[in-house]
Amino acid sequence: MASAHAVEPLKVQGNQILANGRAASFAGNSLFWSNTGWGGEKYYNARTVAWLKNDWNANLVRAAMGVDESGGYLSDAAGNKARVIAVADAAIANDMYVIIDWHSHRAEQNQPQAVAFFQDMARRYGNTNNVIYEIYNEPLQVSWSGTIKPYAQAVISAIRAIDPDNLIIVGTPTWSQDVDVASRDPIRGYANIAYTLHFYAGTHGQFLRDKAQVALDNGVALFVTEWGAVNADGNGGVATAETNAWVNFMKTKKLSNANWALNDKAEGASALKPGASVDGGWTASQLTASGTLARNTIRGWSGSAPPPPPPPPPPTGQQCNWWATRYPLCANTQNGWGWENNKSCISSNTCLNEQPVPPYGIVQ
Ligand code: MG
Repeated sequence: MASAHAVEPLKVQGNQILANGRAASFAGNSLFWSNTGWGGEKYYNARTVAWLKNDWNANLVRAAMGVDESGGYLSDAAGNKARVIAVADAAIANDMYVIIDWHSHRAEQNQPQAVAFFQDMARRYGNTNNVIYEIYNEPLQVSWSGTIKPYAQAVISAIRAIDPDNLIIVGTPTWSQDVDVASRDPIRGYANIAYTLHFYAGTHGQFLRDKAQVALDNGVALFVTEWGAVNADGNGGVATAETNAWVNFMKTKKLSNANWALNDKAEGASALKPGASVDGGWTASQLTASGTLARNTIRGWSGSAPPPPPPPPPPTGQQCNWWATRYPLCANTQNGWGWENNKSCISSNTCLNEQPVPPYGIVQ
């Protein structure tokens, strides 16, 4: 049984992701590429993660581990893996979900390395509820059925041999836009698989929501592991109206999501202005326009927690402790046993006469 503060296990059922048995969605931040020397790696630390939880009310954080570009995992495995582990451990300590993202545009070219990496992550974190495996960030315009799906099946098989249940998210063609294509030939034979949808509101509008709806109608679950309020290339200003349309869509469809990107690079998508502290504690003036919108969205994420359990039934009054079994007292019978509300009841006289010694007899 999980502790009171730990996160609930995530379970895919149809096109929804359930937490504690109910459809739920979570919101948080994606860190920037982890690559050594790119500038975003300085935020891969526990203080930043704790600030996102405590000040932004983020329920999830994404470690976007660069792979095949300069400074990525293939050239600096130790450095990049250490950053991912720092973020994952901090997320667990702060009762957040953490997405471990193989941040590549050509993952099928390095499948053995991906398999080995996710085997390692599954051994480290497969027994936690916090970790989500994102095995392919953004495939290019390559075949879903011929290229991406076989890669995904190989990596999923390796993870599932170690960790039978944590959520696995699979990228989709065209920079994780063609969720409709994936939904027509979904991965079968494994539980708890979702598909990646990315949008940038300055570039992607209703046409992409329509594709997402097709995928949902085909019965697959989606996870927005990146969204931006600006253009798809990371530049441009905040597209307010389109962002609002997307946020409403995600709330209505209960799509969990991570905002791109928690970084201080001088570009529109960055949440932080250049030079913002690597330890959190940012003031409003240190957030960009995009970062301010992201913080407001995440803090106000109404779907971020499952609804509270239904209230207990109204008190039924006193009961009779009858040899350690409790029966309701009859409302309409003064003597003997009765049958009310589709179950047995005991009259108050019978209870008092037959069970006079505490703890038996009439109890609350
Ligand atoms: Mg597990």
